[in-house]
Amino acid sequence: MGNNFLKNRYRLFKNSTIIDAAGTRKADILIDPEGRIVKISQHIDISNHIELQAMLDTVDLNGNIVVPPFVDMHCHLRYPGSISESLMSGSRAAVKGGFEYLLAMPNTEPCSDNKKVIEDVKSVISYTETYGVNIELAGSLTVGRNGRELTDIEELAEYGVRYFTDDGSGLQDAKLMKQAVEILENSECIIGQHLESISNSLDGVMNLGDTSTKLGLKGIDRTWEIEMLERDLSILKSKNTRYHAMHISVKESAEIVHKSKVSGINITCEVTPHHLFFDETELLSLNPNFKVNPPLRCLNDVLYLRKKLNEIIDVIATDHAPHRSVKKELPIEEAPFGMLGLQSSFAAVFTALTQAKRPRELLGCLDILSIIVEKMSLNPRRILNLGGLEIEEGKLANFVVINPLKTICQTVSDIESDSINSPYLNKELLGEVGMVVLNGDFKVDDGKIVT
Ligand SMILES: [Zn+2]
Repeated sequence: MGNNFLKNRYRLFKNSTIIDAAGTRKADILIDPEGRIVKISQHIDISNHIELQAMLDTVDLNGNIVVPPFVDMHCHLRYPGSISESLMSGSRAAVKGGFEYLLAMPNTEPCSDNKKVIEDVKSVISYTETYGVNIELAGSLTVGRNGRELTDIEELAEYGVRYFTDDGSGLQDAKLMKQAVEILENSECIIGQHLESISNSLDGVMNLGDTSTKLGLKGIDRTWEIEMLERDLSILKSKNTRYHAMHISVKESAEIVHKSKVSGINITCEVTPHHLFFDETELLSLNPNFKVNPPLRCLNDVLYLRKKLNEIIDVIATDHAPHRSVKKELPIEEAPFGMLGLQSSFAAVFTALTQAKRPRELLGCLDILSIIVEKMSLNPRRILNLGGLEIEEGKLANFVVINPLKTICQTVSDIESDSINSPYLNKELLGEVGMVVLNGDFKVDDGKIVT
């Protein structure tokens, strides 16, 4: 990589390893000047095509991985209402992280609780400013996310809203959850739930346990997540409503999701890269960048989620949550919850999952890579019905090239977001998103946004 592609040229990618819904295979990929894939084959030989040779750039991918771009089912773009991110900066972070599609959460100001707000936001999303990244807006379940009155879910759904959540907080009122479940029964829409029953406390800082006791910080009890999941499942029983358990963080939640899937409940779930990467002991540093909700949990939870990722977890979603330094640098008790995620998610997940193995060659980690592709690209595409599951001839090139064995180390100047609250800063991670091609346009090359 590192080529400055010229317009009006063919591009031949030699020696790629494609991982998509059709499986894993070695292939050369030929792209025409319009960005269309004209041929995918184990070995593309152009020695007999003199004309083509004159207008061809060849790149040897050395076995590096080509996958359908990632889809993030959970990010906070903070627009409208906050300067901690913009649609443009969030999209830059996304495209650099290999994402093509974002589902933006509704906890904005104003919140996406009615057609007008969603219409207004949609009207300012321009394709060029978002670098070709598509942004879908989730609607809130309750008016102003106040938890007291349902939004006009039917009207929003008619308008095209497909995902409803009060994320930022969970919907506490069981009656309202039941009504929402009934309204959306047999529809394609999904209810996303932030699992946290907060009848007990509102000011927890970190996971309740030995570390919180040691630090004298208020805890967030794991049972609050489990309780709310169980409550919702009792509502969902015998209802055909799509339900997505957001950012599950404890072992028990994963076990419960697994059992309920087996029993036929229409449930999917996600886990964040940081719940696969860090455990609660990071809070010993008192660095507010580790303050997230749900909180970083015990090492046992982290290990369990890694181990059961393939079997139980449908999706890895970033929960990208930018906050300006002026807020994140407050004492940990007062700092807001959230960390950046879009730009670092692939490397964070790959590093977390390969820690024990420390792969030195690609063959040893293809199994892990295909699990990540499933959770970060294919499953979210299936759940949101986006298509693009395979890299195919005849279609505009739409893929990400990953260099799994390249080490990266992000510094503040690498961050594209308008905020810098990343816990991965100056940390060595394994795996680089080297190139991003969206609908025939080269967006990222050699790990940098193409301008
Ligand atoms: Zn949440």
